Amino acid sequence: MIKLALVVPCYNEEAVLPAAIARLTALRDELVGENLIDADSSITFVDDGSTDRTWPLIESAAANDAGIHGIKLAKNRGHQNALIAGLLSVSGDVLISIDADLQDDPGAIRDMLARYSEGAQIVYGIRALRETDTWFKRWTAESFYRLMRLLGADVVFNHADYRLMSRTAIDALKQFEEVNLFLRGIVPQLGFKTAKVYYARAGRFAGESKYPMRKMLSLAWNGLTSLTSAPLRWITLFGIVVSIFSFAITCWILVRSFLFSVSVPGWASTVVPVYFLGGIQLLGIGIIGEYIAKIYLETKRRPRYIVEKII
Ligand code: UDP
Ligand code: MG
Repeated sequence: MIKLALVVPCYNEEAVLPAAIARLTALRDELVGENLIDADSSITFVDDGSTDRTWPLIESAAANDAGIHGIKLAKNRGHQNALIAGLLSVSGDVLISIDADLQDDPGAIRDMLARYSEGAQIVYGIRALRETDTWFKRWTAESFYRLMRLLGADVVFNHADYRLMSRTAIDALKQFEEVNLFLRGIVPQLGFKTAKVYYARAGRFAGESKYPMRKMLSLAWNGLTSLTSAPLRWITLFGIVVSIFSFAITCWILVRSFLFSVSVPGWASTVVPVYFLGGIQLLGIGIIGEYIAKIYLETKRRPRYIVEKII
């Protein structure tokens, strides 16, 4: 019998948590009743340093139900770190990560378990419909997946962090110790037999998105820089193109002044390239700097999260 463990990251989710707890425990009881999962399957809520009543809610749920557990992080470390904290701490044969806001249809868990029984070690939850997201969110998210593909990074289109992983896959994931964590990029690199399950993405059940523009951009940028060094290669290519171009212009100017004795007293042709090249160089240095900053963070080997309490 499969021992299932659900991992639910929560950041200031007091508005949605009671509903999420009710929905997930009901589903667990159903699955236990149908003999699909073991009776001591668990649901673990990871409190990512919430400042509202999220932790007390988790505590009282855990007190009422032996199958509910909580991990309290000492500080808000972001969705990805909260997830990995949960995934690496809980026990179980099969782990499923799901958002607290019930946007990912918990009903898909049944299909995920079926794919697992057929031999898949990793099952991706794919958002088939995103009708409830604003067009802006949908457009930015989908452009991000396209850009990542274009850059040669292996990401699953329209899959976020709703996925099933077997114990074997989790053990493999443990070996990825990077601080600059982007799970959607790492998991496809593990290999194993994978499967996809499609579901309609609902609206947030309650509360507000904990992913403002700033966090979304930072996640996208982290994902990009952790998966590919293509931007560095682009800079090199661009540098080569500009160099060839300047060399050609130099030849042309020399030929003109020596053979035809023409010299134009124009400042535009002098000043424009200076600004242009200055801009390109700053951009280049900036991008290289971003990668060096990542190296700096990785070499410090700081912990990705600090656990304050486990119940
Ligand atoms: N989350 C988290 N830490 C954060 C931000 C978000 O643990 O710093 C959790 C949040 O509680 C939710 C999940 O990550 O369970 C996804 O966040 P949200 O629903 O706000 O993102 P969206 O669906 O709007 O992209
Ligand atoms: Mg959400």
